[in-house]
Amino acid sequence: MNHSMSEQHELIRESVRRFAEKEIAPISEELWEEQGFAYDIWKQAGELGFLGLPYPEQYGGGGGDWLGFTIVLEEVARVDAAVASSLMANSTPASLINNFGTDAQKQRYLRPILVGSQIGCIGLTEPNAGSDAANIQTRAVMRDGQWIINGSKTFITNSGTDITGPVVIAAVTGTRPDGRKEISNFILPSGTPGFSHGRKLRKIGWRGSTTYELYFEDCRLPADHLLGEQGAGLKQTLSNISTGRILIGALGLGILQGSLERSVAYMKDQPCDVQASMAKLFSTEKAMEAAHQAIQIHGGNGIMAEYPVSRAFGDAKVLEIVEGASEIQRMIISRDVLR
Ligand SMILES: Cc1cc2nc3c(=O)[nH]c(=O)nc-3n(C[C@H](O)[C@H](O)[C@H](O)COP(=O)(O)OP(=O)(O)OC[C@H]3O[C@@H](n4cnc5c(N)ncnc54)[C@H](O)[C@@H]3O)c2cc1C
Repeated sequence: MNHSMSEQHELIRESVRRFAEKEIAPISEELWEEQGFAYDIWKQAGELGFLGLPYPEQYGGGGGDWLGFTIVLEEVARVDAAVASSLMANSTPASLINNFGTDAQKQRYLRPILVGSQIGCIGLTEPNAGSDAANIQTRAVMRDGQWIINGSKTFITNSGTDITGPVVIAAVTGTRPDGRKEISNFILPSGTPGFSHGRKLRKIGWRGSTTYELYFEDCRLPADHLLGEQGAGLKQTLSNISTGRILIGALGLGILQGSLERSVAYMKDQPCDVQASMAKLFSTEKAMEAAHQAIQIHGGNGIMAEYPVSRAFGDAKVLEIVEGASEIQRMIISRDVLR
């Protein structure tokens, strides 16, 4: 497998990094504090082509690849993983509509969430169906040429904003021949009669992305808002699941990179005399303990010079003495504690 990045990918990384540091970093703390949604960032990310990067140009996408999009998520998450989570969550409905929608559905619902005029959501989880997605209770029934939807969803990222557009929801549409639930996906636009959201959920993570409960009470949806075939809902969701997991992995990588860089910068900025004493004292005494145990385990052979453990014992003892003996390190540390 070739792990090297093309020049194009490096350019994407560079431009997203510049954008994230210049535009997102200055408002990141405020977003976290207020659990806000960064409307302006979203608009700019759409205009710069970050949201739609791997999707077809005819629907407002960039015609790029998924490696490019993982770089976008990694770089945004390096600065603010909550903002990155909005991009990631937007890509799930985008992929489902792109892969299974009609041309009309793509023009109407995919394009706005790729160019940043709207934001999309995926509505799968329910109060009693999380890991066990096949256990959803929300139902959709065809009546007089419309789908009537009843039920609720919870933990839905990107919901409840002023620009929330399509929510791709999963609903039970019948029973399969084997007795299991038949599940279908629907495109549910904001403003559909009978569709509302509950309270904004307060979180300890992903605070700069919105999360709400969604309610459907005799929610009436035109027949052409079914996504793909009736009964193909779970299959559609599963076909996209590996992509979603890779994108979450990119968020993790971004957090890791950001944490590492911040820690190195912090360490360089701070005097670390006491920490140095702690590190020296702790590691040399632990080395001595281990070497002592190793000789014990070897018995008489542990005393013999040809056994490496005997040599390690002497070497470890030297470490407890040079560069300031353990007693000196303890004095430095206790002086700092008392101050
Ligand atoms: C910030 C945030 C944003 C989210 N955004 C969205 C979104 O946009 N759209 C959406 O649809 N959902 C969203 N979710 C929901 C998320 O996908 C679910 O939380 C997740 O699927 C887990 O489901 P659950 O919370 O019901 O936990 P549960 O499924 O109840 O799991 C609880 C615990 O039980 C364990 N467990 C469950 N089943 C098994 C098993 N069979 N074997 C062993 N252990 C098991 C789990 O590993 C976990 O540790 C979001 C969640 C959060 C926190």
